[in-house]
Amino acid sequence: MAACGTARMREDFVGAVGMNKITRFRLDPRDQRNDQDFYELVGSDDGVFGCMTLLGCHDVCPKQLPLQTQIAFLRRKMLKAGLT
Ligand code: SF4
Repeated sequence: MAACGTARMREDFVGAVGMNKITRFRLDPRDQRNDQDFYELVGSDDGVFGCMTLLGCHDVCPKQLPLQTQIAFLRRKMLKAGLT
């Protein structure tokens, strides 16, 4: 979280960890929730739309998780969900 510019500005920001976890469930075929349900969780400035995509999280992730890909995927899905 220390590498995250948004987390330093927004106390309630879900951060890369939160977005990575949501994406994991979004991609899980056993999870019955739809994009509107996930939009309720992260479709805000404290969620995926608050992310500045500077990718400090991606650069410093000790597990080298593909956070760049996860955040981009989630943002695309939530944008679509928000527009419908
Ligand atoms: S891309 Fe930047 S703002 Fe977004 S979660 Fe990662 S470090 Fe935070």
